[in-house]
Amino acid sequence: MSKVTLFGCDDSEETLDYKNNSTIPDTVQVGAITYDVVTKPFIDIDGERNYQGSCDYLNTQIELVEDMSDERKEDTFFHELTHAIFYEAGFEEQDEDMINRVGKVLHQVIKDNDFENDYVETKDGRIYL
Ligand SMILES: [Zn+2]
Repeated sequence: MSKVTLFGCDDSEETLDYKNNSTIPDTVQVGAITYDVVTKPFIDIDGERNYQGSCDYLNTQIELVEDMSDERKEDTFFHELTHAIFYEAGFEEQDEDMINRVGKVLHQVIKDNDFENDYVETKDGRIYL
């Protein structure tokens, strides 16, 4: 059983920690704006509750539905993060299909590369920063 702590609900844990060591942060910096990342039992948009997540630009908050697998939650997080990135870049009108595609690639790039290290891999070896 993987360890799961719902972010935003427990101050003693800052990240999710599960099998692939993925994390969803409590906050995420997009441009000059700090978005809070929270989970909720459901997301209501104009009476519709059939959403996995939402990106609230005005309140600078990414919301994720609690009752999803960790992987689905992470994928939804990157989708909503992509909305935030495009919004902060000035794209107020967004094409959902494009956000879907870019979000999935962004998820893969972040997941499959280790940007936490103090070095970068080059074809000639590691360069320490
Ligand atoms: Zn979307």
